[in-house]
Amino acid sequence: MAVKRDYYEVLGVSKGASEEEIKKAYRQLAKKYHPDMNPDNKESEAKFKEANEAYEVLSDKEKRGRYDQFGHAGTDPNGFGGAGGFSGFGGFEGDVGGFGDIFDMFFGGGGGAGRRRGGPQKGADLKYEMEIEFEEAAFGIKKDVTIARNENCSECKGTGAKPGSKVDTCRTCGGVGEVRYTQNTLLGKVVNVRPCDECRGTGKIIKDKCSSCYGKGTVKKNRKITLDIPAGVDNGSVIPLRGEGEPGEKGGPNGDLYIYIRVKSHKLFKRDGVNVYSEMPISFVQAALGDEINIPTLDGDAKFTIPEGTQTGSTFKLKGKGIPSLRGSSRGDQYFTVKVIVPKKLNEKQKELLKKFAEISGDSFGKSIFDKVKDAFGK
Ligand SMILES: [Zn+2]
Ligand SMILES: [Zn+2]
Repeated sequence: MAVKRDYYEVLGVSKGASEEEIKKAYRQLAKKYHPDMNPDNKESEAKFKEANEAYEVLSDKEKRGRYDQFGHAGTDPNGFGGAGGFSGFGGFEGDVGGFGDIFDMFFGGGGGAGRRRGGPQKGADLKYEMEIEFEEAAFGIKKDVTIARNENCSECKGTGAKPGSKVDTCRTCGGVGEVRYTQNTLLGKVVNVRPCDECRGTGKIIKDKCSSCYGKGTVKKNRKITLDIPAGVDNGSVIPLRGEGEPGEKGGPNGDLYIYIRVKSHKLFKRDGVNVYSEMPISFVQAALGDEINIPTLDGDAKFTIPEGTQTGSTFKLKGKGIPSLRGSSRGDQYFTVKVIVPKKLNEKQKELLKKFAEISGDSFGKSIFDKVKDAFGK
C-alpha cells in the first residue's frame, strides 16, 4: 500500500491554514481533477479522491484536531461516512456520509436522480468524556469504562418485527424507501427524491412489532470496554475507537467511539505539552549558601544541588523528568522555580545573629533597599 500523503500537503496549504484557505485550495483541486473533466484518467481520479479525503478531514474542526494530534491514525477516512461512496465515479451512487453534500456545495448537483438513498448507512459516532489523574495521563493506564450504546436487537435481529411475523413491502414506495416526484421549474423538469414517509425510508411495513425493542430494531445496552490510554495524553486528547459506536443501518458499518480525555490538575505540577513545571520553596539560608535538596518529580524525589547565591524566581531544569511524548520514546523535562521563603517569626537569638551578619556585611541595618538603589544611581 502506498504511503499516505500528509493532508496539508495534498491540499498545498500550511498547517495553520484558515478554513477559507482550505476550502479554496480544495475547490481548485476538485475542479482540476474532477472525473467529468478527466474522463478515464486514473491518475486524476486518484488525485480527486485524495483531495476529497484531505478536505473531508481538514474542513471539519474536530477531525482536523484529531489529525493534527494523531496523524492519519486519528482519522481513518474509511471510518468517516464510508468511503464506499467514492467508488463508481460515473454517477456518485450510493453516497453515504458527507461526500454528497460536499459535491452539492461545489458543483450544484441537485440532490438528484440517480443517487441511491436508503442504502447501507454508517452508525452514529459516540462521544465519551473521561477524567483521569495527572499521573495517569503522564504514564498511561488501562481503564474499564461502561458505555451505553444501541445494539441490534437480538430478538428480532434488528428488523424490528416480531420473530415469525409478516413484514410487508411498503406500498407507497414499493420497498425502495424513497419517493420521487417531478417538479416543473423555470429550468425545466426536476426530479426530486425524498425518503418515504410511510415506511420512514425502510421500505418495509411492520405489522407486529418486536416486543423487545418496540419495533426500533435496536436496544440500549451497557457495554464494558477496556481502554488502553497511552502515556502522554493531554487535556483535550481524543482517542478514537473504530466500530465501537452505534450500529450501522442496513448492513452499514458501526459508528466510532471517541474518548475525550480531561486531565485533573495536580497539587504540585503544572504541565505544558511534555514539560512539567513546579515551584520549590527553600529557606533564605539554603538560597544563600547553596544546598542539596529533594525535588518532588513524577518519579518520586530527585536530588538537586542548588548553587550558592540562588535568587528567588530562579528556574532549574531536571532533564527527562517530564511527560513521555505521545508519539515517540522521548520524555520532556521538569522545570522548577525556586521560591525563597523569608521567615516571619524569629527568636531573639536568630535576630541577634542576623544583625551581626548585617554588621559584618557592612550594611547599615536601618537602610532600606530603596535607599540603596538610590545610592547606586548616585542621587
Ligand atoms: Zn427487536
Ligand atoms: Zn415506503
